[in-house]
Amino acid sequence: MDFSAVIVAAGSSTRAGPGAPKPWRSLGGRPILSWSIEALAAAGARQIVVVVAEAWISEAAELLQGVPGALAVRGGATRAESVQQGLAALPAGDTAAVLVHDAARPFLTTAHVRGLLAALEVADGAVPALPVADTLKRGRDVVAETVSRDGLWRAQTPQAFRLDVLRAAYAAWPADAEPTDDAAVVERAGGKVAIAPGDPRLMKLTYPEDFAMAEQLAGGARITRIGQGVDAHRWGPGEAVWLCGVKIEHDQTLIGHSDADAGLHALTDAILGAIGEGDIGEHFPPSDPQWKGAASDRFLLHAVEILTNKGGRIVNADVTLVCERPKIRPHRDAMRQRLAELLGVPLDRVSVKATTTEGMGFTGRQEGLLAQAIVAVETPA
Ligand code: MG
Repeated sequence: MDFSAVIVAAGSSTRAGPGAPKPWRSLGGRPILSWSIEALAAAGARQIVVVVAEAWISEAAELLQGVPGALAVRGGATRAESVQQGLAALPAGDTAAVLVHDAARPFLTTAHVRGLLAALEVADGAVPALPVADTLKRGRDVVAETVSRDGLWRAQTPQAFRLDVLRAAYAAWPADAEPTDDAAVVERAGGKVAIAPGDPRLMKLTYPEDFAMAEQLAGGARITRIGQGVDAHRWGPGEAVWLCGVKIEHDQTLIGHSDADAGLHALTDAILGAIGEGDIGEHFPPSDPQWKGAASDRFLLHAVEILTNKGGRIVNADVTLVCERPKIRPHRDAMRQRLAELLGVPLDRVSVKATTTEGMGFTGRQEGLLAQAIVAVETPA
């Protein structure tokens, strides 16, 4: 059966943690969105309409270069609106069937498409679905009841429809309601939706941990990389100092353009170094007034975000602070906690150590504080 496809990729990905929207994160070295585009093209889609957020239109156009019959359009405020924008972009009466797919399900194959189109032969729509395997409970803090899972399914995408039926169903859908999938729209309009075999590999990437699992499924080799960072700031008059994201009462402060948190600066540089992304000064120039007095948390989070967008993650980090004063030991646990939070890793992946230089050198003379950081990250090879 002749078919076209609409890929919805306009969501905000708020549950997926820091980083670019899901369709634009890396999986096996290319954007997640490109997996679905290639799979649908390989399965013989006549037209592929990719619906993306306004800000990503030019990236989408670039990604679609060389894919015949593919185009990118702007999405709406909701998924349903985005689907309708995609349907509107399909030439009227051009194809009998349309597959509507979420970009966050990258492991689509030709076999999935064939199964859906076969099911569509005798229905208005077809959804890939898996029977519910876990026992279902209803309740809040305690179980109120056990729900029978008999006849219950987990619906996935792509979902296949007769194009004219889906268009008419959306036209009749109430404007104030938000359907959770496209099949629900056709069901409400009285259409017959067939259940086709689902596949665990059609899983939706939603939470941060889903991406690491997806990398394994993508079969891409992963490598560990090491980065190191060094930073120093000069002591000056003050009442407190920021170190490793923690404010410590002290009779001096570190002088710098930002909050002068040498620990966070060294760690930021270590992450950037591990992934070959330059250094902190390049990303946050000291000449730029917007970073004056800035909390250094954002520098570190920015580096973590670049890493995340490359499909990478932190393995562990080790920071050493070199100074005679203040005593670091009483603050070490708080520093580790804060760093673990910022890096998004368990506490045992983070170390903060301190040493003096026994009065020697600039740290010994208490002219300044030195911070060193080493980090290991894991990224697609
Ligand atoms: Mg610095």
